[in-house]
Amino acid sequence: MSKIRVTVWHENMHEKTDPRVLALYPNGIHGTIKGFLDENEDMEVRACTLDDPDQGLSDEILDNTDVLIWWGHMGHALVNDDRVQKVYDRVQDGMGLIALHSAHGSKIFAKLLGTRAWGITWRESDDRSLVWVVEPNHPIAAGLGRYIELEKEEMYGEPLQFPRPDEIVFISWFEGGEVMRSGLTYFRGNGRIFYFQPGHETYPSYNNPDVRKVITNAVRWANAGTKPQQPLNCPPPVAPIAPKNK
Ligand code: ZN
Repeated sequence: MSKIRVTVWHENMHEKTDPRVLALYPNGIHGTIKGFLDENEDMEVRACTLDDPDQGLSDEILDNTDVLIWWGHMGHALVNDDRVQKVYDRVQDGMGLIALHSAHGSKIFAKLLGTRAWGITWRESDDRSLVWVVEPNHPIAAGLGRYIELEKEEMYGEPLQFPRPDEIVFISWFEGGEVMRSGLTYFRGNGRIFYFQPGHETYPSYNNPDVRKVITNAVRWANAGTKPQQPLNCPPPVAPIAPKNK
């Protein structure tokens, strides 16, 4: 069985300026995610950043990626439009995309969803958060209990300026009273997209075993996008067509 080729893409900017982030994620958020995904024998994982040649999003990398994981925040505007177009085209062709936390504001997420996907209310006040599983039979929720408990997370709240999702897997509650549809799937072209809210850079969410389980499950789910089919131009009918009286 061929392995799932996973690329973890990270802007890698907060790590350079905020020692709290580096303390939580000594190898960067991308290194942490690659680290726990590497434990799966069915995955072949690489990590890339905005500092790499072609912003870590070269044709060669993207043409050899089955599932792309995206974390961005400060650097959304720095990603070149031709790289965004390339990712967009790859998703149309069946590549999976997992957008984490503030990746909702990235160019690629907005382009694929067809809205700005911004407009989230947010607050950094160490809210406790419960990430409720609302579709327990969904493959992305496999192995979880009723909810994931996070001691601290950034509050993101409704209403979202996202288009209505195809599936809602999680809804998060925050200590300050807000809620958010926090685990969402979208089908675009031949590709599968999953958005997952936890993962503010100064909180240890990517070290949480359940969050890791969600991302691992999501890689396998997003890899199942259909492969592109060539349209047939004017094919012969599959059944005889009776002559019509004019
Ligand atoms: Zn954040």
